Amino acid sequence: MHSTNDIRRAFLDYFAQQDHEVVPSAPLVPYNDPSLMFVNAGMVPFKNVFTGVETPPAPRATSSQKCVRAGGKHNDLDNVGYTARHLTFFEMLGNFSFGDYFKERAIEHAWNLATKDLGLAKDRLTVTVYHTDDEAFALWKSIAGLPENRIIRIATKDNFWAMGSDGPCGPCSEIFWDHGDKVAGGPPGSPDEDGDRFVEIWNLVFMQHMQEADEIIGDLPRPSIDTGMGLERISTVLQGVHNVFETDTFRNIIDVSEDLVKAKADEDTIASHRVIADHLRSTSFLIADGVLPSNEGRGYVLRRIMRRAMRHAHLLGADEPLMHRLVPTLVSEMGQAYPDLGRAQALITEVLEREEARFRQTLEKGLRLLDEETGDLAEGDSLSGETAFKLYDTYGFPYDLTEDALRNRGISVDKDGFDAAMEQQKAAARAAWKGSGASADNEVWFDIAEREGASEFTGYSSTEGEGRV
Ligand code: ATP
Ligand code: MG
Ligand code: MG
Ligand code: MG
Repeated sequence: MHSTNDIRRAFLDYFAQQDHEVVPSAPLVPYNDPSLMFVNAGMVPFKNVFTGVETPPAPRATSSQKCVRAGGKHNDLDNVGYTARHLTFFEMLGNFSFGDYFKERAIEHAWNLATKDLGLAKDRLTVTVYHTDDEAFALWKSIAGLPENRIIRIATKDNFWAMGSDGPCGPCSEIFWDHGDKVAGGPPGSPDEDGDRFVEIWNLVFMQHMQEADEIIGDLPRPSIDTGMGLERISTVLQGVHNVFETDTFRNIIDVSEDLVKAKADEDTIASHRVIADHLRSTSFLIADGVLPSNEGRGYVLRRIMRRAMRHAHLLGADEPLMHRLVPTLVSEMGQAYPDLGRAQALITEVLEREEARFRQTLEKGLRLLDEETGDLAEGDSLSGETAFKLYDTYGFPYDLTEDALRNRGISVDKDGFDAAMEQQKAAARAAWKGSGASADNEVWFDIAEREGASEFTGYSSTEGEGRV
């Protein structure tokens, strides 16, 4: 059996043998990059190397990078538990060439590792290339011997990568695994490509151009390579299952949550077990990297993820805090690869337990209000923004938790109404502050507080203020 830990090791060993420096994962909070909430790809810690601002650690590198996609440009939060391939926390295995080898070697490495070292069946692999990238098309044909109908040309941004509107950019090539005709979904580029039959396992980015204001202005003197393979997705394939949550790490966590809540995973409960297992990973790793729950910025994203999982624990019938009791299993699964996780175990346990105990005080009341307000609603209807805001402000329900709670009834939430209610409360708070005879200093403080989050402004929130503590 290929354990997830063995597969991570096999990937890094392969590239180490090919003269790549093995670089440890960077923390999830990006260093010196306020533009990004969390590290969401293996190349993020190397951004300044690719732009030429920093010198590379070596001409070639490889890593297994912790990633969180739960906000900003890449937000997979709503997919988790409902697709077979999305997680909020995952590990991205990557190999990088900083102006060293380029397209041909990158494709050779990917193909050799996938089909020889990892032993993937060639006839289940399909690749995509950017529609104008004849070079990549020809290389896949000659190196991999793939027939032309399994080298699919894609014209969308899915196959064109750019660091931002200014900076390096280039075409990419994605490798897909066919999970077989028992799984719904079509090949990349087809109308039902979003199904889980053809799952993208590896993305190769060929950084070869420079752009300014979204226009290509020329070629890089020394093109580079950035690749990303989802560890949990390749484990899924190598362990012969069809869903990331059926791999060893998740199976072991879900076994424990089944025991603790005394609810076996079945058709009705499986999504909750999966959400809990995924969110346990993202919240624990975020806490280990220094993020704590709060009402602003990164801390609020953490709180949203935690509370979302905690509602699912409640849904499974947990009558006391659950999340913190899963931490030992997570540490035994992943602590060896990530010693920081083990070192932070006591802190993670305490933060999770405290947050869950606290949220449980308002969760039930909030759910009751939600039931009352949606009693008359049917599939296709939408919950008013004011109610969603009340749930947020009084009962500490993050917006997406409310959305998630109504999801299986097909009821949506009026987001504009929610935003408007939030704006109104902020304006009222501002007016109240001015009314108290604010000095210029107070104005400045208010601006900072608003930018950084209104954590000191609990006095303005209407009732229990749970959402704004
Ligand atoms: P998808 O199209 O399936 O959402 P993506 O194109 O957004 O994936 P990339 O940004 O190319 O993903 O990331 C590189 C690799 O990381 C992917 O090929 C995939 O194996 C993995 N990956 C991306 N997002 C996730 C996720 N939410 N959960 C698990 N693995 C992921
Ligand atoms: Mg994606
Ligand atoms: Mg994709
Ligand atoms: Mg991709």
